[in-house]
Amino acid sequence: MSETATSPKLEKVIIIGSGPAGLTAAIYSSRARLNPFMIEGEEAGGQLMITTDVENYPGFEHGVTGPELIAVMRKQAERFGTRFLTRNVTKVDLSVRPFKVNVGNQEFLAETIIVSTGASAKWLGLPSEKQYYNRGVSACATCDGAFFKEAEVVVVGGGDTAMEEANFLTRFASKVHVIHRSENFKASKIMLERAQKNPKISFMMHTAVEEIIGDGKSVIGLKLKDTRNNEIREMKVQGIFVAIGHQPNTKMFGGQLTTDEAGYIKTKPGTTYTNVDGVFAAGDVQDPHYRQAISAAGTGCMAAIDAERWLESLGE
Ligand code: NDP
Repeated sequence: MSETATSPKLEKVIIIGSGPAGLTAAIYSSRARLNPFMIEGEEAGGQLMITTDVENYPGFEHGVTGPELIAVMRKQAERFGTRFLTRNVTKVDLSVRPFKVNVGNQEFLAETIIVSTGASAKWLGLPSEKQYYNRGVSACATCDGAFFKEAEVVVVGGGDTAMEEANFLTRFASKVHVIHRSENFKASKIMLERAQKNPKISFMMHTAVEEIIGDGKSVIGLKLKDTRNNEIREMKVQGIFVAIGHQPNTKMFGGQLTTDEAGYIKTKPGTTYTNVDGVFAAGDVQDPHYRQAISAAGTGCMAAIDAERWLESLGE
């Protein structure tokens, strides 16, 4: 169901973003009779829409694809009355209540807002990266590591994410090479040392990935460049994990919601409360640490309950 409202109508709850956090918030808030309105974005569903197999989402014994998981959650939210608008929010004004949410020249008013706009993995920007995405190229070891049993893989990056991904991948892979473009690490000492001590991990410094080589079906190797002398060489690998950081999708809230220095929305510990009363944040947009579909869904549930109780406290 789509909605094309023309005059501002006061909504109890507007949910911005439609990954597992937003959809879980929608299920809970529609069951709480808050009649939520979800502005799901033109690329609805978030990162799960570009994930093939999800084997760690509880309740799916034999796994589920990311798009299927999103489709089921969306139907569940719709069954309880959630209304959807498949457009991108262009502007929000959180300075006064009711809050204003703009989609182009359409304006919506909301008593509460649940922000679940997610985060996006940063990519190297190589055409081959897109071509072999999910066929040897990944940005999530927790999601895809188990598909690389006894394989030789690389992790690109020099931050904590890269160290964590490399360590995790040694549970499956026979060998993990960390490829970093310089010799200075952003990773914390403890994480770096843990990776350096792991006998399955080796480090290739001053190295950049020039191209991902595939056989048409999956990744078979990489073209690498030495960043000091531009020398090119090739290496055989079956997998490449890009771990050069994530970008929370918080641009539209700039100056209104408090974020950390990386742009993640700050929430009051143990809750989904943001610095603005009546605005709640759930999922990856406020989570630089776990970034899992199930933890996003969990915080989506929390946001719906927080919003419901907050409205109740106002006598709504
Ligand atoms: P960071 O920004 O810390 O590190 C990104 C790394 O990727 C840097 O080494 C950077 O290299 C490299 N990089 C960036 N762009 C490119 C590119 N285009 N090509 C090649 N390399 C590139 O991001 P992280 O995701 O690692 O960490 C983000 C935050 O999350 C940090 O605060 C971190 O501490 C935290 N975190 C904590 C964890 C934990 O405590 N368990 C686990 C994971 C993350 P360069 O240095 O040259 O710029």
